[in-house]
Amino acid sequence: MVIAITNQKGGVGKTTTSINVAAAIALMGKKVLLVDMDPQAHSTISTVSNPEKYDKSLYDVLMSKNEKFEEIITRSNVPGLDVAITRISMAKLEPALSGEFDAHFRLKDALEQIRGRYQYVLIDTPPTLGLITLNALVAANFVLIPIQSSYLCLEGTDDLLETIEKVKRIANPQLKVLGVIITLFDKRTNLARDVVQRIRRVFGNKVFKTHISKSVKLEESPAYKESIFTFAPNSIGAEQYRKVAEELMSRAKN
Ligand code: ADP
Ligand code: MG
Repeated sequence: MVIAITNQKGGVGKTTTSINVAAAIALMGKKVLLVDMDPQAHSTISTVSNPEKYDKSLYDVLMSKNEKFEEIITRSNVPGLDVAITRISMAKLEPALSGEFDAHFRLKDALEQIRGRYQYVLIDTPPTLGLITLNALVAANFVLIPIQSSYLCLEGTDDLLETIEKVKRIANPQLKVLGVIITLFDKRTNLARDVVQRIRRVFGNKVFKTHISKSVKLEESPAYKESIFTFAPNSIGAEQYRKVAEELMSRAKN
């Protein structure tokens, strides 16, 4: 199944969630592919040793049907996790595809090439609702929405939900919101508790039971190109992302 991790706000934990949920599922023995759709390429840079040594990247695969998806897939530093290499060139995708009638279907079509090879494909997306994110939503079975526990966290969720509805209507009727993950949570503050209540009022039981706390270890691990499970296996972040991954797998079954 294909899961897009999306929120058009930046800095809410999309990339951190993509990497660590993908790693957690891979460590449970599943075949997992992480597809990095963000031109900033943080998911790629944080999991692959020398991403610059690859000639081609996801941009080339999305631009031309003659490019092989498998040639831009590599093993990551996370045992069992493969990553599709992305570079800053991805920023050219939107202008390059403007006017192409199948612009929104490029990722879906490309994923057909590797159909059946992975049990889970997780897509990290950029902080926009533009063409790149639309490609992810068209290709996905599920959307996972990280929401930062902060005062203005719900600003923009209407636009996101409207975009999801539009994609469902026009291109991908099966698309479902798998859930909302509250990130960067600081349980010591009254504000954080208030924020959780407000998020629950909007999303009800879509909110994952486990929240991801603010944690220095989670912030540090990408610099070492590690997931939290090797960087700090006994940390609260590792425990929380493991639980989130378990909850995700059980929600995705129903
Ligand atoms: P996005 O992909 O939505 O822009 P990131 O996952 O890159 O968000 O997170 C934004 C910043 O916050 C990064 O510097 C990241 O390391 C940090 N961060 C993410 N989650 C946590 C967390 N639970 N605790 C502390 N820092 C975090
Ligand atoms: Mg990101």
